[in-house]
Amino acid sequence: MKTLPFTAEQLETWSKTYPTPFHIYDEKAIRANARRLKAAFAWNKGFHEYFAVKAAPNPYLMAMLREEGFGSDCSSMAELVLAKAVGNVGEDIMFTSNDTPAEEFRMACELGAIVNLDDISHLAFLEDTLGGRLPELLCCRYNPGPLKGGNAIIGKPEEAKYGFTREQLFDAYAQMKAKGVKRFGLHTMVASNELDPQYIVDTATMLFDLVVEISRAVGIVFDFVNIGGGVGIPYRPDQQAMDIELVGRGIEESYRAHLLGQGHPDLRLYMECGRCITGPYGYLVARVRHIKRTYRTYVGLDACMANLMRPALYGAYHHISVPKYGEAGTTYTEKVETPMMLCDVTGSLCENNDKFAVQREIPEVAPGDVVVIHDAGAHGHAMGFQYNGKLRSAELLLKEDGSVVQIRRAETLADYFATLDHPGLACQTLP
Ligand SMILES: *Cc1c(COP(=O)(O)O)cnc(C)c1O
Repeated sequence: MKTLPFTAEQLETWSKTYPTPFHIYDEKAIRANARRLKAAFAWNKGFHEYFAVKAAPNPYLMAMLREEGFGSDCSSMAELVLAKAVGNVGEDIMFTSNDTPAEEFRMACELGAIVNLDDISHLAFLEDTLGGRLPELLCCRYNPGPLKGGNAIIGKPEEAKYGFTREQLFDAYAQMKAKGVKRFGLHTMVASNELDPQYIVDTATMLFDLVVEISRAVGIVFDFVNIGGGVGIPYRPDQQAMDIELVGRGIEESYRAHLLGQGHPDLRLYMECGRCITGPYGYLVARVRHIKRTYRTYVGLDACMANLMRPALYGAYHHISVPKYGEAGTTYTEKVETPMMLCDVTGSLCENNDKFAVQREIPEVAPGDVVVIHDAGAHGHAMGFQYNGKLRSAELLLKEDGSVVQIRRAETLADYFATLDHPGLACQTLP
């Protein structure tokens, strides 16, 4: 069972002002979720979540998360600009990039961001870029390689392009100390969409153990440990959300035993989750355009993989609700006895993998019906693209008071052609 924070009637009303398809985010749920995460780690005095901007790079959402005390995890120039735009500067930015251009290192340092290095060679590169000095605070990204199993989605750490080997870390921190770096962090990011709480706890333990070893070997203490993101969400109705309180308690226990118990002083615990912060609280709202019956039944929507690429990209499951059948209440719940149809739910892109669902039983629909695709609040709109001349949709925010505001307009053909300077386009009035 999946629920919706709005009714079919509300969607019809909103779509008069903001035509489908659009993404809509639930402010109340996002704020409640942010507070729950903070509460689960309240035992750590310096706990800080850096929202992974790439999951939902909209400044209105980022500003809301800043109000909840979250910083920004950035990995590109555009993301740094967005962080600055919402007032996240200094140590409210974690800059975790890879294959980094000099101008991004420069910008990150100008903003006072925490630079999280991806490779040992970047130490000299950064020093050069900054004219022969290093920031006072630096962090390194650890890739445990064969020592950690990874998970099905992100793959094996050994095959991942990110991070330092274990040996390189000892070398890097010694070099940093010698060059006058004063404060140190250690980071890893080994999971994606992980639903097993123990995996996250084990990741923290791995870092605590390593911090103790490095601090003894090099003669430094650490300011923080950043356990990365990767906390999963239940895309399928039969999956359980990760028990974040359990993760919080598990990491607290590990922190006491593996860090404090080993003589390392208190440090700050950082996270950089994206998916689990906004994912379940964003919805792609679309309308059925055509129903086509050939070898299969195809339900064609006015949205396509330009609006949400995950199903086409990695066969990801996104639940589809048809609000007209829903049970109205404080939230809108699917009824069990709804008539169903077996179909492929498609977009209009000229790519056969432009499907939101393949051979799925969904509530019976007719052209004109509104459908809602769940869990589109992270890596949804953000992954949008314009292939085949498809335009990215608007983003709306359902505010705590029940009103709706547009936080990004839909793209127009003028946006699509903006980078072309061709007389044949300039003389036309665009539809
Ligand atoms: C993508 C990414 C995240 C966020 O991952 P989620 O799965 O959205 O939590 C965090 N850190 C880094 C370095 C990333 O690349």
